[in-house]
Order: sequence, then structure tokens, then C-alpha cells
Amino acid sequence: MNRNEIVIKNLLPGSIAEEVGIEVGDALLKINGNDIYDTIEYRFLICDENLNLLIRKSNGEEWEIEVEKDPYDDLGIEFDDPALENPRRCHNKCIFCFIDQLPGGMRESLYFKDDDSRLSFLQGNFVTLTNMSDEDIERIIKYRISPINVSVHTTNPELRVKMLNNKKAGDIINKIKKLTEGGISLNCQIVLCPGINDGDELVRTLKELFQFYPHVSNVAVVPIGITKYRESLYKIESYDKQSSLGVIKLVTKLQNEFIKKVNEPFVRLADEFYIMAEKDLPEEEHYGDFEQLEDGIGMIRYFERCVLEDLIFTEADGKGREIALITGTSCSKYIRNICDVIEKKFNIKINIYVIKNEFFRRKNNGIWFNNSR
Ligand code: SF4
Repeated sequence: MNRNEIVIKNLLPGSIAEEVGIEVGDALLKINGNDIYDTIEYRFLICDENLNLLIRKSNGEEWEIEVEKDPYDDLGIEFDDPALENPRRCHNKCIFCFIDQLPGGMRESLYFKDDDSRLSFLQGNFVTLTNMSDEDIERIIKYRISPINVSVHTTNPELRVKMLNNKKAGDIINKIKKLTEGGISLNCQIVLCPGINDGDELVRTLKELFQFYPHVSNVAVVPIGITKYRESLYKIESYDKQSSLGVIKLVTKLQNEFIKKVNEPFVRLADEFYIMAEKDLPEEEHYGDFEQLEDGIGMIRYFERCVLEDLIFTEADGKGREIALITGTSCSKYIRNICDVIEKKFNIKINIYVIKNEFFRRKNNGIWFNNSR
């Protein structure tokens, strides 16, 4: 029996599915004898020249339909995917979880904790692999669900169990080994917590992950985000100027070692570390192809590059008009710099209004942060 009921919601006009008599409301039960677990499996299974589709019509009849097509032709079927509409819930209780630090009364979806490798592949979500069975890992390898974004935090088994508050969290290295041996690429993330997984623990984690290079192609290190809503939670401090400088020093040393070996830094720090430390950001080249941009790695350099590239092809005279721009505190210096260039190019004046985020309200080294992971 199918684990999911794949009910067809729409057919593209002139599609193969329409031609062979499939209708909206039919259920797709099997492709070439295989159950269909989710959209990813469906996409994989239809990449064949000869398909045998088992369809249940709305009157309950089951039809077997033979389809001959080019391997990458789409069938033109659209369906709701129950597996992706109900993503796997997270089974952890991380000591640094940002969702636990949200105030009540906000949009319900903000409180949902997902931990689903399919969302990692489709949408870039990070997963901890703690709720993943051997069978799940085999499916990922079979269907080439790659790359996957993995929240590692530490490779020390006892420390990971403590940080994720999950006794199943300790075997991360074995899972990474199985996935990478199966040809899956991983982008890894470490949420750094002062005095917990930084210092020697960070060195250990990065060196252990580097053993899997290039399958583990890069590691993002981001600082813990702390809000004012964590009174009853595990006591953790934020990074400040001094501790951020310490992280930069330690990681720069490791980056140089990795560059000597593989000609790239392998580990990169979130922009926030440089801002808190009041250090210049690394140059654009440091970030390679900006693989971990959405994790805040190189976001400012990428923004600058995009604006400067667009300016080359844009001509206009603003005739001295003034415009207002609202931004947050931590990136305001960089926004000002880029606005200076824009002002000159277009003959305009940009008034920047810096808004302190008092909603989450956390002040580090004179800078207000609302970073979240
Ligand atoms: S940080 Fe992520 S994995 Fe950890 S408890 Fe929160 S949602 Fe789950």
C-alpha cells in the first residue's frame, strides 16, 4: 500500500498525462511497480522511457497505463504532496534554539520546528539528521537527494547530545560517513555558543568534518542568536567584541591550513562575527560561490557586488531628490557606504534611518542584534 495518497490536482493542457486519459481527482498509486513516497521520488521515477502507471480512477477502478516518452519528458501532472505539506518535526530541544526564544502571540508557522531532509534539498532548510533512520539514509542515496544542509554544531558525541538535548544526536559522524560514501554532498553549519562548542571543540569539529572534504564542501559558523525571551532556558551569553575577535583569530588560522591543503578556506564565518569584532569583512573572493549565503555567510559582500554590478548598466538623473531608507543596526555602516556610491551615480540624497530592534532586544558591544538560527 502507498504510504501517501498522490491525488492529481491539475493536469497541464496537452500533457502526456492528459493524452493517456488521466484526469484531475485520479490517484497515482505506483510507477513501474514502485510506491511513491513524495514529490522527489515521483520526479526520480518518471525519468524513464517506459512507464507503467497504476492509476485509481475516481469511481474506484484501477487502470494500468503504459507510457513511452523521452526520459526527461514531464508527465504534466500536478499534485499536492502530503509528505511535504506535513514536514517531519524536529525531535531536538537545542539549548540555543531561536524558536524557543520567540515571544507568544506571533504567526503560528513561526513556531513550527521542522527537521526534514526533503526540505533541505528543496528549500535549503538545515537538518540535524537526528530523526533519520538507516532506511531514510538509503533513500537519500538512492534518489541522489543532494546537497543536504546539515546542522552539525559539534562532532563530539557527548557534547552534541547535550547541545541538542537528544540522546540520538551523538552519531553524527557515522551518518555523515554513510551519506558522503553514498555520493551525497553536504553543506554544514555550526551555531557557535560561547564556552560550549567553540575553542578546542570547534577545532576538533572542523578537523573531523574536513576529513569528508570535498563531499562536505564547506562549513558555516554562525553566532548564537539570543533574545530577551529566554529567562527559563539554558544560560548562554552572546558573543561580544572580544570573544568575536577570538573566534576570528582561531578560524583564520584553520582557514589558512585548509587553504594550503585544498586551496580554499573550507570554513567561513558569518558576517556578524566581523561586525561585532569591528573588523573588516573578508574580500568577496573569500566566499567562493557564496554557497551559504542564506546563512549570513558573505551576505554583505554579495549585496555590495549585486548593487555595484547593477549600477554599471543603470543610468538616471535623480535631480537632487531625497529618499528615505530604513535599515537595521548591524549592517547600517555597509548600507551607508553603498548608498554613498548610489547618491553620486544618480544625483540623489539617501537619508538612512537606523531602527533598533527592541522587539527581540539584545545588545552586543553597543550593537543591537536579532540574529536567529
Ligand atoms: S534549533 Fe532547530 S533543531 Fe534545534 S530544537 Fe530548534 S528547530 Fe529543532
